[in-house]
Amino acid sequence: MTASNTGGFEVLVYETMSEQEALSILDKHMRDYTMRAARGEHGWICSDCCMSYPEGMPDECFHGHQGCTDIIKRDKLAAMREGNEST
Ligand SMILES: [Zn+2]
Ligand SMILES: [Zn+2]
Repeated sequence: MTASNTGGFEVLVYETMSEQEALSILDKHMRDYTMRAARGEHGWICSDCCMSYPEGMPDECFHGHQGCTDIIKRDKLAAMREGNEST
């Protein structure tokens, strides 16, 4: 990747940290959010169907989309593993 595409946000990020660091922070934020939603700690929004689940991540997609359900299952499994590691 290059720094040629400079929107305001990117300029700020490039000035303060490396691209790698910025990406890993964004990644961690998304991951934390997803893991908490998977444990039902806060609501979740499916990025595919834009359906919101105030109770947290459901067991399967409300619309029955297999792709969404696959993601849900994968993330719930990851959240369970992460919970076991930290306790
Ligand atoms: Zn769906
Ligand atoms: Zn979905």
